[in-house]
Amino acid sequence: MKNINYISTRGNTNPVSSAQAIKQGLADDGGLFMPEAIPSLTEKDFDVLKKASYPERAAYVMSKFLTDYTYEELLADCKESYSEARFPGGAAPLTNVGNLRLLELWHGPTCAFKDMALQVMPRLLSRALVKTGEKRTAFILVATSGDTGKAALEGYKDVDGIKIMVFYPVDGVSKVQKLQMATQEGNNVTVCAIKGNFDDAQNGVKKIFGNAETAELLNKNDHFFSSANSINWGRLVPQIVYYISSYCDMVNAGDINEGDEVNICVPTGNFGNIFAAYIAKMMGLPVNRFICASNCNNILTDFISTGTYDRNRAFHTTMSPSMDILISSNLERLLYVIAGQEKTASYMKELNTKGVYTVENEVKEKISSNFSGYFCGEEDTAKTIKETFDNYNYLIDTHTAVAVKCANEYMKDTGDNRKIIVASTASPYKFASNVYTSLTGESLENEFDALKATEKLSGTNIPTPLATLESKAVRFTTVINPDDMTKEVLKTIGI
Ligand SMILES: *Cc1c(COP(=O)(O)O)cnc(C)c1O
Repeated sequence: MKNINYISTRGNTNPVSSAQAIKQGLADDGGLFMPEAIPSLTEKDFDVLKKASYPERAAYVMSKFLTDYTYEELLADCKESYSEARFPGGAAPLTNVGNLRLLELWHGPTCAFKDMALQVMPRLLSRALVKTGEKRTAFILVATSGDTGKAALEGYKDVDGIKIMVFYPVDGVSKVQKLQMATQEGNNVTVCAIKGNFDDAQNGVKKIFGNAETAELLNKNDHFFSSANSINWGRLVPQIVYYISSYCDMVNAGDINEGDEVNICVPTGNFGNIFAAYIAKMMGLPVNRFICASNCNNILTDFISTGTYDRNRAFHTTMSPSMDILISSNLERLLYVIAGQEKTASYMKELNTKGVYTVENEVKEKISSNFSGYFCGEEDTAKTIKETFDNYNYLIDTHTAVAVKCANEYMKDTGDNRKIIVASTASPYKFASNVYTSLTGESLENEFDALKATEKLSGTNIPTPLATLESKAVRFTTVINPDDMTKEVLKTIGI
């Protein structure tokens, strides 16, 4: 197989191996890593994939990108990551809702789609340390507004050669999310709350990453910092798999004929998940259109229709918090593919200095020939949860509801009746109080009451990881000032 190296979206860095790209996270010039070439899927590949299990499909697709890993290594990692024990409801099953095919990506240990990447990525990093001759311990530092922190902790717990520390805003996450993190098991994990909001946590982590003195101190003590953030290529590549896998499942079920085009709709925040779908198309998956679904933080909807990305706007807190984002980092990868390195570097410079950039007409046209942008407000999100339940007896979470509404709008606007694969990104139980209120109009103070009430109302079961949460021992209670984050990191390492 052809060897694939990784280059920066912004310019002049030397190509590195996939293992190095995963270990490093970000390119030296601040850009994101992209493969030098996108491998393609032939008819023969599809024949193999159609007959394969999910772990086999994952290893097969990933081996085309991660060319310094053997297929056998990847297969072993994928078999463990996507096992029945870790994904009791299946890794990426489809449920039909009218013309929509809901791709359920939330059957993993933390009940959100981040598990799809964060279960396998720690294994990739672990191998990367060996492949690059790294002797030091990787210290993963994460700032989270909820879902990423827990998924990273579950993925990295007890992985050899790696430690992980997560910071979250003490009043900025839900009660369930807080408990999920405070009760985390594992010998190499630390969780710490900070007095402040998510930006304080994120800025604190960025400062620590950027501090040369701290880096040298770690180095002397045989540690180095690494990141589990969604800009890491190791998080993106496992996400390409499930779009290809769902297409194979639809062909196998006789839902479509091989070669038929589908549309794909993704509830979008950082643009990682939808960009993975776009790469699947670049590889040869027959996709007509990508529907980029946003909540009322609709900066991407505006960008797709006007060509101007402007982050100088109000930030809204919504019931789909994982999409409350004004800087969609992975959009940089799409800009690179469409406009090239030089233009991407200049857009990103403008974004950093002025908070706004405008792409040329030709770039805008190329984007809108593949992407349609839609958004869905709070009221419509609640209404969509209720209508989907009433009409199909099927419960969706707040993020998925945004996508379902946008997919329906798209069909209404265009008359395009191709089947739409909709990424269903979280279990409805993960956002139970909002889901329950959407269904009944009543609000419940206590999240655990909401879980039980939703279970009773829907006739489905609370996923085990959430059902057992209330009775788990709390391990982490530390709350610190953002100024003390470095001190806390050093203390954790034992420096
Ligand atoms: C992270 C997340 C998203 C957004 O995904 P991106 O890859 O950041 O666009 C959507 N829904 C849920 C539930 C998430 O956790």
